[in-house]
Amino acid sequence: MSTNETLPSANFIRQIVTHDLKENKHNGRVATRFPPEPNGYLHIGHAKSICLNFGIAAEFGGTCNLRFDDTNPEKENIEYMESIERDVRWLGFTWSGLYHASDYFEQLYDYAVQLIQQGQAYVDTLSADEIRAYRGTLTEPGKPSPDRNRPIAENLDLFARMRAGEFADGQYVLRAKIDMASPNINMRDPAIYRIRRVHHHRTGDAWCIYPMYDYTHCISDALEDITHSLCTLEFEDHRPLYDWVLDQLQTPSHPQQIEFARLQLEYTIVSKRKLNQLVTEKHVHGWDDPRMPTLAGLRRAGVTPKAIRDFCERIGLTKQNSWIEMGVLEYCIREDLNENALRAMAVLQPLRIVLDNYPDGQTELLDVSNHPQRPELGKRSVPFSKVLLIEQDDFAELPPPKYKRLVEGGEVRLRGAYVIKCTEVIKNADGQIIELRCSYDPDTLGKNPEGRKVKGVIQWVSEIHAAAAEIRLYDRLFSVPNPDNEANFLDAINKDSLTVLEDCRVEASLADANPDSRYQFERTGYFCLDKDSANGKLVFNRTVTLRDGWVKD
Ligand code: ATP
Ligand code: MG
Repeated sequence: MSTNETLPSANFIRQIVTHDLKENKHNGRVATRFPPEPNGYLHIGHAKSICLNFGIAAEFGGTCNLRFDDTNPEKENIEYMESIERDVRWLGFTWSGLYHASDYFEQLYDYAVQLIQQGQAYVDTLSADEIRAYRGTLTEPGKPSPDRNRPIAENLDLFARMRAGEFADGQYVLRAKIDMASPNINMRDPAIYRIRRVHHHRTGDAWCIYPMYDYTHCISDALEDITHSLCTLEFEDHRPLYDWVLDQLQTPSHPQQIEFARLQLEYTIVSKRKLNQLVTEKHVHGWDDPRMPTLAGLRRAGVTPKAIRDFCERIGLTKQNSWIEMGVLEYCIREDLNENALRAMAVLQPLRIVLDNYPDGQTELLDVSNHPQRPELGKRSVPFSKVLLIEQDDFAELPPPKYKRLVEGGEVRLRGAYVIKCTEVIKNADGQIIELRCSYDPDTLGKNPEGRKVKGVIQWVSEIHAAAAEIRLYDRLFSVPNPDNEANFLDAINKDSLTVLEDCRVEASLADANPDSRYQFERTGYFCLDKDSANGKLVFNRTVTLRDGWVKD
């Protein structure tokens, strides 16, 4: 994979748009939209659609709207709308217009009246179950409802009374009159309006009938003069209905629906409904839990918008559903963080070391580089003293082959500081190592030791200067690649997806860590400050490990 800025790949949608522009198909315009339903937080799958829609608009000098598809009031709310706006902005995109399907309720109603007047919609008394039974199967045609030939005047009257609230929920539906024998079941007189007395977060109690998705979506696209209506593959079979509605109504424009494959990411779930279940049943700590594949969760984990955009570009666009390995996302995260994260020192599981030949009570301020490959990011000063803490597993009593860190009698360099040698291992009565006695070589600051090579470099903090921190390590939320294949996806939750280390120590400079900064702690990974940090308590999240250690074990 190329590590440079990703170049736009020649995906099939870009080709279609390029071709349409050449043919002057939509008067040379390109207008797209991202149309989420505000029934949950956006996830990484939505990022694919956002990057595509906004990306195509930007690339071809067009526009891209954010449109809330808010026709299902029982599941939608303002919190979700706000989170969606925040997440789209965070990803780096600005919409041309902000719309809601509910902005069009009056027009949608008028269009439905027009369909009735044209003899192309009727009010049906069949119940939802009966409609299903009448619909037929893939191999058998459907049966017409007894109401299918209700006179137009009666349909107009009943539809007006549906709106006026004269009937109970579910008592009637308005159906498009298309073809009960169509091989495409979506065309067998689909319902386009239902009665539902639910308060809507934008229109309040103004309506007790709500339009159905398929009917609403195409008209909303047309009213916004969308040229290319990009959606996921499951809508391919709905395209004839999309086109049918617009053809009958002769809307001012007729957008072109183009389908692409959904993003499916291994070891996680991309369905708002299931993510909602994880939240409400408290399997995770909210929509922004860093283990969640939501944009809010990824952001809190420390993932950058750039890494997500890069990921969406890399996975490309096809007409075939396939699974993407989590490693691809992690690769993009590491690429970005390796280049941009500031280096800092932290010990997750501290082991005390005492430098016997270092003067008592002395503190030196050492200048340590913030990024070894990027001198322009500067240096910071890190206090050094006689008693230090290192990572427990940077010392080995019985070192495995090729171990380059500290061993008894061996030497190692402390990052940005001196070479030290371990002279004695102190244990408690249980045989646990509690402290290392060491010596330091004063002649090794910023230079190689005389006459010998020291290979290993480890991080450290000064015991009296270091700040205490809680560090949260995350692992994949599910323990199988495709939790959706399980009888119950909840059974596949990885019980060890969160490890909290409460007694970590970080270098003093991190007491002022910036919530927007990302840090690399040597060998342990990339980290960011969590929003739970408050009143002097520091909490860091691990965004990702330095290397992909997961596939190997
Ligand atoms: P969910 O099942 O998670 O609710 P959805 O498709 O119902 O997904 P919407 O809010 O309707 O969610 O989606 C808004 C847009 O994002 C749609 O155009 C949809 O096709 C697209 N989208 C949703 N999930 C994915 C995904 N996994 N990959 C690519 N695009 C997606
Ligand atoms: Mg949906």
